[in-house]
Amino acid sequence: DGVSMSMLSRPSRMMLLVNPQSGKGQALTLYNNHIQRMLNEAGVTHTLVITERQNHARELVKEADLSQWDALVIMSGDGLLFEVINGLLERPDWEEAIQTPLGILPSGSGNALAASIHHYSGAPPVFSEELLVSCGFLLCQRLVARMDLVSIHVASRPRLFSFLSLAWGFVADVDIESEKYRQVGAARFTIGTLVRLASLHVYKGKLAYLPATEDYSNEEGLENNQTLHCNNQASSLAPASRPSRDSPCQNTFHNSCHSNNSLKVQRTESTPSQSATKAGPSDSLLLPLDQPLPSDWVVVQEEDFVLMLAMYQSHLAEDLLAAPGATSDDGFIHLIYVRAGISRASLLKLFLAMEKGAHLTTNCQHLVHTKVRALRLEPHSPKGIITVDGEVVEYGPVQAEVHRGLARLITG
Ligand code: ADP
Ligand code: MG
Repeated sequence: DGVSMSMLSRPSRMMLLVNPQSGKGQALTLYNNHIQRMLNEAGVTHTLVITERQNHARELVKEADLSQWDALVIMSGDGLLFEVINGLLERPDWEEAIQTPLGILPSGSGNALAASIHHYSGAPPVFSEELLVSCGFLLCQRLVARMDLVSIHVASRPRLFSFLSLAWGFVADVDIESEKYRQVGAARFTIGTLVRLASLHVYKGKLAYLPATEDYSNEEGLENNQTLHCNNQASSLAPASRPSRDSPCQNTFHNSCHSNNSLKVQRTESTPSQSATKAGPSDSLLLPLDQPLPSDWVVVQEEDFVLMLAMYQSHLAEDLLAAPGATSDDGFIHLIYVRAGISRASLLKLFLAMEKGAHLTTNCQHLVHTKVRALRLEPHSPKGIITVDGEVVEYGPVQAEVHRGLARLITG
């Protein structure tokens, strides 16, 4: 494997999970050409774990002795990180496990989180192998920030945790239909968008949400403390099993986060909806899917849509800056929906503008965007696709609640 014996005394021990089938199937070559030397020169001891099948990574992190690792890094697309996060949150010790810093090196066809991390660093956009190299450098700096996770409920299975997006309609259809073009890499979304435009559908359903109040971000006072700077040399990443090494700003965050949650429970006077699994934080804003909405939610008047997209990172794909205002731990679900009636030309214009994040300022009458903390979607169309982080989930009623800063992300 990739352990370099001479590096074992160094503190930063990363498990690097590589999906050899990701993207164009060249992740191992990309690792050899771009990553191995970079990590070694930066003193990052890492053990290469090559995933063999779907859910391999999920099972692995569910059982792993996390005290052995200072970080879990995935080299794949967003799908493998989705597995890792859900594996961590299925553990009985989930509260500690999800503190393990997570990193991502893009070698997939959907590299939205990697593009988001690169964007947060303030650097101008880059793509494919340049994005990989950028993320490699950022990983070597080993700076850790908080990352929001969103719990997602569908009707008939345990809830999931999502770090990127919940999509229905046009975007979800493109994501899944374009799987067959995965050999072209990230360009598959562009091709898929053009194909889908040719047969534009209207999707019927009821959408409702809990608006994010403007004082939400001030309440938590996180603006100046978003990044936890770990010491460059000796300490780097603190092992997840030693939360006492966390910096004071992080503790502050924890406290305010908890008080915020308990506030909400009182306000809604509702029983938190219980998930089938015991692990993971409870959802204080949601009522069970078969019960009516809490009275303070906003119900969208229109029931004919072209797309609904809930984002909690800036990028939907390498070249789609879908939520330009999003940061990794702003505590918001950035909700975008497009009402039916939009012309093909206008929709195409929106997607072209999205490359630079300009779609929100195009004055498109059919586009609505707002910040929310929870949402519920009840599709009326009998068949369709709903995706979570680009993965298909059961089609039907779905609801979501954001958990601010639940995970930790190496952002550089
Ligand atoms: P991409 O962006 O290229 O689709 P992902 O990271 O989303 O990359 O990976 C796609 C899927 O491949 C994930 O659902 C993951 O579980 C699965 N997977 C992981 N390892 C393997 C493997 N060795 N063979 C096939 N599929 C795998
Ligand atoms: Mg966010």
